[in-house]
Amino acid sequence: MIVWFRDDLRLADHPALAHAAATGQPLICAYIHDPHAAGERAPGGAARWWLHVSLQALEAALAARGGRLALFEGDAASVLPALVESTGARAVYWNRRYGAAERETDGAIKADLRGRGIEVESYNGLLLNEPWTVLNQSGQPFQVFTAYWRACRLKGDPPTPMGEPERMIFQRLPAAAVKHAVKLDDLGLAPRAPDWSAGLRAAWPAGEEAALARLADFLADHLDPYADERDMPAEPATSRLSPYLSVGAISPRQVWTALRAAEHGKPSARRSAAAEKFAGELGWREFSHYQRFHFADLATRNLRPAFDAMPWRTDPAGLRAWQRGLTGYPLVDAGMRELWHTGWMHNRVRMVVASFVAKHLLLDWREGERWFWDTLVDADPASNPANWQWVAGSGVDAAPYFRIFNPVLQGRKFDPRGAYVRQWVPELAGLSDALIHEPWKASPRQLEAAGVKLGNDYPHPVVEHELARQRALEAFAKTGKRKTQEG
Ligand SMILES: Cc1cc2nc3c(=O)[nH]c(=O)nc-3n(C[C@H](O)[C@H](O)[C@H](O)COP(=O)(O)OP(=O)(O)OC[C@H]3O[C@@H](n4cnc5c(N)ncnc54)[C@H](O)[C@@H]3O)c2cc1C
Repeated sequence: MIVWFRDDLRLADHPALAHAAATGQPLICAYIHDPHAAGERAPGGAARWWLHVSLQALEAALAARGGRLALFEGDAASVLPALVESTGARAVYWNRRYGAAERETDGAIKADLRGRGIEVESYNGLLLNEPWTVLNQSGQPFQVFTAYWRACRLKGDPPTPMGEPERMIFQRLPAAAVKHAVKLDDLGLAPRAPDWSAGLRAAWPAGEEAALARLADFLADHLDPYADERDMPAEPATSRLSPYLSVGAISPRQVWTALRAAEHGKPSARRSAAAEKFAGELGWREFSHYQRFHFADLATRNLRPAFDAMPWRTDPAGLRAWQRGLTGYPLVDAGMRELWHTGWMHNRVRMVVASFVAKHLLLDWREGERWFWDTLVDADPASNPANWQWVAGSGVDAAPYFRIFNPVLQGRKFDPRGAYVRQWVPELAGLSDALIHEPWKASPRQLEAAGVKLGNDYPHPVVEHELARQRALEAFAKTGKRKTQEG
């Protein structure tokens, strides 16, 4: 019997694997890489590296249990039936995916295999609640997060995660199948010449064990202050589980259940508040997948059609300055450099840099979304576009477009000692805490004392905040809305 792994690269709480192992039949664990799958988005550079090391970790985990991961490349609709044929498998199990193109692919494969008399079963391994199980009283999808999440919470806790199967018998791949199998290195997922992955490698140990260790560490040492510190990018206050959730090295049910155990293990009002906040973040992940399921083309279509009239600018130089962390706004630049070096960026800073694209630079949010897609280790086809639409104002239940983050005020509020900026924009490290978020306000003497030549070591702002704000509001008015607010 075949277990088809996709975005669920783990052995524990893997419903398809658990059910397959429970039949007692020999297993073939397969992964099919199809960079050209119709309608699906090929992973970006950082996510490809992450997929490589995550597959490597799954290979090692299976090998340690006497099995192997059979890797293939190509169109699953041809590879899977061929594998069924060459192995004589009578059943194929997988965990479900929720994107439109993925559902179409999976549905067609299911129908084809069933037509050949093969048993096909699919399960939920990716979400706490599948998108069609949470609807409003009229049977329509929720458009507002709070109402959606309330409805989810009323359904109670998700089922307890399944452990790793106690016993797995593995089937050897017959020669006919081996002929088509490929080696992980052959997939060309890891960068070679040049290999730019050192910073990513240092930040992200791959695999299920690393994910579980990270979860345990977060719950033991960082849960209590989570609600107070999660917006402070200089603090190690958040779980950094997003890359593991994105490839399924850990499941949301595992995170949820461990969170509740930690909350009840050492009860306090502070801990409960933190656990609720953290659970709500998992809720935003769910809501992103929910939107992707219910509102097609999340990555390409404004969910609010009024935004189709937005007069976005074209500004290759501005986009490039943003991508390289050279906008002249220290918090924005720190975030963009953190992203470039580690493949990850703190959530608060993601909001600020995304707002900078859509509002200060007045660039179509899709331009920024594409850069994130290419550079994020946790690049997720649901969470990335859903959050970009949220920040740009074009999404359902989005932040209003007229709320324009001021990068200086955001810096002062969430990085008051400038520690985050000093880490990622070291050329400004010598400036005082008062000036570090607006170096252009430093006197020539202060700049000299800090060893900074503005325009030389560090750029002047690519656009002045007040001008940018006015320009954004005028553009927004063209979509038929008008209001103002400073964030
Ligand atoms: C413009 C923009 C783009 C983003 N792109 C992605 C993306 O491609 N992939 C991705 O996983 N997250 C994305 N996020 C959401 C969020 O920034 C990250 O999930 C979070 O920073 C991950 O860090 P963490 O694991 O330490 O989070 P924690 O604070 O520890 O939260 C726990 C988990 O909750 C989920 N989560 C938290 N915040 C959000 C959110 N706003 N939306 C959806 N899920 C959330 C993540 O799975 C996260 O691992 C984006 C946010 C913005 C503003």
